[in-house]
Amino acid sequence: MSVQRPKLNAERMARLVEISRVLNATTNLSHLLSRIITEAADLTKAEAASILLLDPKTQQLHFKASSNKVPPEMANMAVSLDDSIAGAILTENKPMYIQDVSKDPRWNQNVDDAIAFRTRSILGVPMHNVAQVPIGVLEALNKVGGGDFSVQDLETLSILADIAGVAVEQARLFTKLEQANAELNELDQLKTDFIAIASHELRTPLSVILGYVSFLRDESGPEMTEQFDNVLQAAVHLRTLIQDMLNLRYVDAGTAMLTRQQVDLVELVQNMNLEQDETAAAKDQTVHVTLHEGRLPVLIDQDMMEVIIGNLLNNAVKFTPKGGQIEVKVQRQGREAWFRIKDSGIGIPEDQLERIFKRFYQVESPLRRQHEGMGLGLSIAKELVELHGGRIWAESSNEHGSEFIIALRLDIPATGLL
Ligand code: ADP
Repeated sequence: MSVQRPKLNAERMARLVEISRVLNATTNLSHLLSRIITEAADLTKAEAASILLLDPKTQQLHFKASSNKVPPEMANMAVSLDDSIAGAILTENKPMYIQDVSKDPRWNQNVDDAIAFRTRSILGVPMHNVAQVPIGVLEALNKVGGGDFSVQDLETLSILADIAGVAVEQARLFTKLEQANAELNELDQLKTDFIAIASHELRTPLSVILGYVSFLRDESGPEMTEQFDNVLQAAVHLRTLIQDMLNLRYVDAGTAMLTRQQVDLVELVQNMNLEQDETAAAKDQTVHVTLHEGRLPVLIDQDMMEVIIGNLLNNAVKFTPKGGQIEVKVQRQGREAWFRIKDSGIGIPEDQLERIFKRFYQVESPLRRQHEGMGLGLSIAKELVELHGGRIWAESSNEHGSEFIIALRLDIPATGLL
């Protein structure tokens, strides 16, 4: 015959549901533990309550909270699993009611002494995590008025212990996540600082090299021109890389560095004279620009928009073979201005279309790279576009090259016609 479990009255049920909601929303472990203790004592009408959590490494129990404040020396006090009441509750994984602790050989008087409390009786239940593994013990101490704990008290405490067990595990995970996040942020900051310092420090000696090489080239005879040109070319390339690193600084400074004003995107692109780009010409590529007829005013930082467009054009040239085609379009799309740049190059695999915008990400593996660069151009472009409240994305089919699109909100009154 099965034993009928006593039903909790509706009031206690409602209270437990409310507690469950609160506990699940509490991510600070020590707040959570004190809340559980208060609720445990309150719900079972006990004089005090305490929680002991299992240390997964040492496999010992530790007091984590008690209604009487846990003195620090007690929190460190390990309670062995073998000869304590809490240890028995945990290892046997079942509730226990000790009506008179003085008669129980497992009872440890030191605990009472440490918190200046006299325990007469203990109602203790194991706490479980989501996987139903016991992770600690919840105890209610001394029924108020000196009576006995009821079966309902036991039932209530068990339910509370399970809600608490899951919440404790959740809070621990949350703390770990927060720590991991803080470490990542710290690393990210270190990396950003390093890039800022390194690029700044590299710029000065490079200007000296560029200055002297240009001077020597002009002073030397024609037989040395080619060699000096090679050095100059390499130094200019280095300057571009350093400029990319410096541009990161603008991104990291956020909107603080933006000087936005109304600019006609059509005029801006026209003035950039992309059709005459020297790097494209050096690879016999043609750049074809089609502009919207009429103005497309946008609220942007002109210098930054030129950095963005410059990065996209550099990539189009770099990843397109000799003699390829690059098409630039500026058009109106509803209430937005779109800048599109399409190349006939190597294209981008579909599953990389999002990732290429991450800092230092490159489709080719760094060891087998055929193209130069640091993997910063697109991340800078994306972060700068987003600082302007715009969007940037890539489309590609491997056979037909890649297309990058920037969408910016038009700076016109709601009813404005252009
Ligand atoms: P970098 O060009 O310095 O490597 P980017 O951040 O500008 O860095 O670009 C990241 C990666 O995206 C490139 O390494 C390349 O793999 C891919 N990519 C960017 N633009 C193109 C393009 N037009 N065609 C093909 N792949 C591209």
